[in-house]
Parts: sequence; structure tokens; C-alpha cells
Amino acid sequence: MIRKKVIAGNWKMNKTAADGAALAKDICTEIGRETGVDIVLCPPFTALESVGRTLEGMAIKLGAQNMHPEKNGAFTGEVAAEMLRTLYVTHVILGHSERRAYFGETDALINQKVLAALANELRPILCVGETLAEREANQTLAVVQRQIEGALAGVKPEQAISVIVAYEPVWAIGTGKVATTAQAQEVHAFIRGLLGKLHGTAAAQKVRLLYGGSMKPANAAELLAQPDIDGGLVGGASLEARSFVELVRAAVAAR
Ligand code: PEP
Repeated sequence: MIRKKVIAGNWKMNKTAADGAALAKDICTEIGRETGVDIVLCPPFTALESVGRTLEGMAIKLGAQNMHPEKNGAFTGEVAAEMLRTLYVTHVILGHSERRAYFGETDALINQKVLAALANELRPILCVGETLAEREANQTLAVVQRQIEGALAGVKPEQAISVIVAYEPVWAIGTGKVATTAQAQEVHAFIRGLLGKLHGTAAAQKVRLLYGGSMKPANAAELLAQPDIDGGLVGGASLEARSFVELVRAAVAAR
């Protein structure tokens, strides 16, 4: 099964509206036309509009980093799916480990967000992954299973193929420590097998599984060559055009 590779940049709480547009413009100059790889930029909410304008007519998609599951209402500081849609957002990162750790997001809340995103035709980039303590306690697969089963409860097989899953070992995020290709492939294969049990093998074969955690040009080719690694969710290396473009080129070469 040939799955289109995906490189998604998670800018986290970086870049103003103007800085974000400038970065997007530099990225578009290099790889704005169809590359054969799905490219997604996920700026903070405040830069979605300016980055979205810059991406107009380009083959690069716009993603948000979070959303609230409700349609609207008294949820101060939150943003709903429909609001994202009006800014031409197509993807939304859900369940990032920073949201889980610093904002108390549970699997149940992430599940509500996944269902709301799918109902609004937004593609969730669902993040899962274990902490260092969980890995050392041999809990990696159990944690990932709990997170996936929790987040995807009630998702139908025909919806599941729209979900992108990012395996991001928490100990590898922003630390410079990368999972070995064997560690990453083991968990990716496990996730695909689990998706097969949940939604059927045909659906599981179509779901794109990304690796995230200190991915950079120097380690991307090896990770992207693994049979179940279909791309990357990239933090630090997505904040500069040069490194992000190199990652996309590595994904193009790995097709
Ligand atoms: C992330 O936060 O999604 C991430 C993968 O960050 P980094 O690439 O900086 O480790």
C-alpha cells in the first residue's frame, strides 16, 4: 500500500502573524507547488489568517494546534472547529503531549475533539506517546494503546482513514533525543495493527502514521524509510524554512 507521506510543522507558541507569513512565504518559494508529499503548516491561532493568505493557491495545507469540541458558547479562550474552517484550516493537531501535560487533557476530552473535528471535516493529527518513565517501565505499548483506543472511541472505519496519527515519544520531543528507527518502527507497526483490530485491516493500511520527536534533516531519511513511518510531525526544525524544506525533500525522496 502506497500512502502519501506527510510532513507537518508544529510551530507551537512561536511566530507572530507577520513572522509566520514570512516563514510560510520562504517555504512556498521552495516547495509551494505540488511535491507528491502532503505538507501542513500549523501556526498559532493568531497567525492562521496571515499564513493562510500566504498559502493561497499553493499546495501546502493549513493546520491548527488545538480546538474545543463544542460548536460555540461560554468557553473563554477557546476556538471552535467552524472558526478554524472559515480560515481555511484543514488539519488540527489534537492530544499533543504538551496539551496533555500542561493543560490536563485526558483521553476522553481528546476523543470529543477528534469526533468534533471529523464532524466538521477537519483532519485530526492525533498525537500519542509515552513518557520516559513509562518506557522504562515497559509500558510504551500499553500507554499508546490506551491513548489510541480512548481518542478514537466512536470513530467509524470510514472516518478513521481521515485521521493522521503521530507517534511522539515524550522523551524525544524538543530534547534532541530521537527514538531509534527500530524503536519508532516497532511502535508504528503496533499502532497499525491496533488500528486494524479497531477499524479493519483495509482502513488501517490507509492511515498515515507520523513520527515526531527531534526529527531533523540528519535523521529523517532513515526514519522515513521505515515501512510504517509515513511522515513526520516536526517542532523545532519547522521553525526555519531551510530545515523544514530539507525534511520535505527527504520525504519526497522516500516516496
Ligand atoms: C512536537 O512537539 O510535535 C515535536 C515533534 O517537537 P520537536 O520536533 O521539537 O521534538
